[in-house]
Amino acid sequence: MRKFTLLPSLLLLGSLSLTTACSTSSSGSTGSNTAAARGGASSPAPVSTVDPTKIKGLAIVNDSSNDRSCPWATSYPAVPGAEAMTAAMKKDVDNYLANYLGKGSSGQPTSCGGATDASQVPELNISFAFLVASGDVVGVRLLTQDHTGTGDGLTTKTYWYDGAAHASRTAPGLIADDSRITFLTAVKKELKQRQGVDPTMLDQLTSADVDDASFTSDGALKLSFDRGTVGVPAGGRYTVAFSKATVAPWLSAFGKRAQRQTMSPSGTLGLGAVSTPAPAVPTETASSTDTTNCAKVKCIALTFDDGPAVTYTGTLLKYLAQYNARVTFFTVGQNVAAHPELVRAEAKAGHQVGNHSWSHPDLTRLTTAQVKEQLERTSAAIKAATGNAPTLFRPPYGAVNAQVKSATTMSPVLWTVDTEDWKYRDAVKVAQTVIAKAARNGVVLMHDIHPTSVAAVPEILKTLTARGYHFVTVSHLRATL
Ligand code: ZN
Repeated sequence: MRKFTLLPSLLLLGSLSLTTACSTSSSGSTGSNTAAARGGASSPAPVSTVDPTKIKGLAIVNDSSNDRSCPWATSYPAVPGAEAMTAAMKKDVDNYLANYLGKGSSGQPTSCGGATDASQVPELNISFAFLVASGDVVGVRLLTQDHTGTGDGLTTKTYWYDGAAHASRTAPGLIADDSRITFLTAVKKELKQRQGVDPTMLDQLTSADVDDASFTSDGALKLSFDRGTVGVPAGGRYTVAFSKATVAPWLSAFGKRAQRQTMSPSGTLGLGAVSTPAPAVPTETASSTDTTNCAKVKCIALTFDDGPAVTYTGTLLKYLAQYNARVTFFTVGQNVAAHPELVRAEAKAGHQVGNHSWSHPDLTRLTTAQVKEQLERTSAAIKAATGNAPTLFRPPYGAVNAQVKSATTMSPVLWTVDTEDWKYRDAVKVAQTVIAKAARNGVVLMHDIHPTSVAAVPEILKTLTARGYHFVTVSHLRATL
């Protein structure tokens, strides 16, 4: 993919593209950002929504670093039966992360760890949105927000799975082979009139460069081009949409099915996957309200971020129940939407469920409206799962400022002990760290997306219980101090 290197003077424009990064709203609207509007891009039409709880056996693959000098968070869905599509997403995510960390093939130096002031700190965030999951069609968009010295903001790409052919498809796979030239000519004709489009770049555009294509609910085909791929970076993203009638003669057989399943989803997804029983959700119910008096006894608040995650969160709930321990989960909205049953189980077992944003961005880089969207969308998902809206939030990376605080009535929660469990994927080391650093009324940061962290919990509970600790939620700790 061709890209201009973003000049420092254009970094401000780069921040505008965040509007699109954060607009994976339930309405499915991808919005139109200011930069795109300046570039003359048309406003993308909304796409239909997908309820991820309808996808049997769905797992969200999450990973993150909590390193303030090199923050990153990645996520993509693993849909049973569409393993080839999952593998394609994994490959791209792994490559992106390797390049971000300066270990990739691009050989680009990374600014990780070398920033001298906060404005130079990079950030990589990869989140996802389902486009379709119906019949024998799956469509997913990955949204990559890259804030690095040379990063140009938002990159999007769509991934498709054709259940009938058992094959992963790219965006051009929606177009029949013998229509690709006609299609590409029409794309170029559309883009040519736009302000900021570079004719040389347009000349070199091939159908392989069309890597983000999806259908709207009225059957139009919508294409999206990243900043710097068809025009000057200042032009922002460019979007092209072809009506249902225009695109009809160009679609491949798969493209027609993808269009149909977007317009009128059949309701169930059938990829011919061997159905594996969903992992059992723990059914522990808190016997009564917690009466631990932290003014009189030794209390500690274990907190688990970034989940819920299949199957680790369920395992963790079992361990906690064995010791009557109550903890606080700071959940990520896109995971709550995929697995509300796990969040419900957390609340039912007497744990506290807090808000950790929708897709784990550094909130201090966002506008107030974007912060609100990140937090409110997640709170709505938690409320739908548990019946109660959260009262606490943990800002990703612990990054919080007055603007973020003013965007919500929830109280921010940081931590007193960082286990660095995202860095040390070693259960013994994680357990030792928590046990060594445990202190009365401490708040311990862990992550239930890592099996090693969950595996450390029985040892932590056993040892600290023997030392007289009581495991309470953050709100309980705050209320009884
Ligand atoms: Zn986190």
